[in-house]
Amino acid sequence: MIRFEQVSKVYPDGTSAVDDLSFEVAEGELVTLVGPSGCGKTTTMMMVNRLIEPTSGRILVQGEDISRVDPVKLRRRIGYVIQQVGLFPHRTVLDNTATVPALVGWKKAKARARAAELLDLVGLDPAKYGGRYPAQLSGGQRQRVGVARALAADPPVLLMDEPFGAVDPVVRERLQNEFLSLQATVRKTVLLVTHDIEEAVRMGDRIAVYGQGRIEQFDTPAAVLGMPATDYVAQFVGSDRGLKRLSVTRIEPLDLEEPPTARLGERADVAAARLRGDDARWAVVLNEHGDLHGWVATDALAIAGEQGTVGDLARRMEAWVPVGSPLKQAFSEMLQHDAGWVAVVDGSRFLGVLTPAKLHEALRRSVDADAQGVAREDVEFDSVADA
Ligand code: ADP
Ligand code: MG
Repeated sequence: MIRFEQVSKVYPDGTSAVDDLSFEVAEGELVTLVGPSGCGKTTTMMMVNRLIEPTSGRILVQGEDISRVDPVKLRRRIGYVIQQVGLFPHRTVLDNTATVPALVGWKKAKARARAAELLDLVGLDPAKYGGRYPAQLSGGQRQRVGVARALAADPPVLLMDEPFGAVDPVVRERLQNEFLSLQATVRKTVLLVTHDIEEAVRMGDRIAVYGQGRIEQFDTPAAVLGMPATDYVAQFVGSDRGLKRLSVTRIEPLDLEEPPTARLGERADVAAARLRGDDARWAVVLNEHGDLHGWVATDALAIAGEQGTVGDLARRMEAWVPVGSPLKQAFSEMLQHDAGWVAVVDGSRFLGVLTPAKLHEALRRSVDADAQGVAREDVEFDSVADA
């Protein structure tokens, strides 16, 4: 979709900003370019919409050599979001958002309707914010308008240069998450530049780690964190990369343990006897459909005797996560609820529990799988938990 072929850029003063760059962003993929200031990220990005021309090499967008495409027409296919947002101060939010559709000749009513739709999509009520001026918005809201504007003409490609850099960390994380769920719907081909490895890892399907004008590693976040290709990358991703990896490794059904379970309507004493036979001190409580209801202690069941059912004694499950969540979320649930395990659900259906030992295994296995380029389930591993 976006393809760099041996692209170099030397500025007129002799600065070599980008050196022999080749990589490709697939359709619908979000690739983050990450590296320290001055390593050539912005130069790379601005060559895609021809705000900067390469010194040598070729760039293709949708299979077309962009040096042969009229830059103005090219830019209509490419949404552009920058840190300073660049909203027109004397135009309303709605008119700012409608800028590109208006430019490409949409009728005013259609352009405004589209703008309202986009504002809604980025979480700004058009009735409330559409008539405001940029100065009347918070930094985070302005950034949302910037994203809405870039998407307004529905371009297949989106370039984002430090899009969330100007807002505080809390708002930044919210904007990142909002954009990720937006991207899950709109599926644009996105090139996102950041100097922040956390952002790169959180946002990217793949990340390109830049050294001076070159890509040191181009791979999935898990692979970059698990197996930095060079000392430079290892240093750049940080010594806590193992911890960061928790946020990019997702819980899969094969990571789970099957704990003892009891049914809602089961008689308490019957369940107690059965659980004691299995040496189980507690059980996960499910309803007749296999949905997660809560948990119950074997002792509590034994005390209730014939009087009660499992449902009477079941307690709410505090620590649970959906399957597919990052391991970090499971870990954080464990810490928050001081729990030795978390329940994992698919919708409301109970799948199993994740224990600290299983969490460790999952982390180990995902590193090894990346190292060997094979599917995770085919990897043998040793775990300290088994020792
Ligand atoms: P980044 O976005 O990673 O911070 P840039 O692409 O902006 O990096 O810059 C890469 C290098 O090119 C830097 O050394 C920068 O000083 C230099 N540079 C950027 N723009 C120009 C320019 N117009 N003229 C000369 N050098 C430039
Ligand atoms: Mg830059």
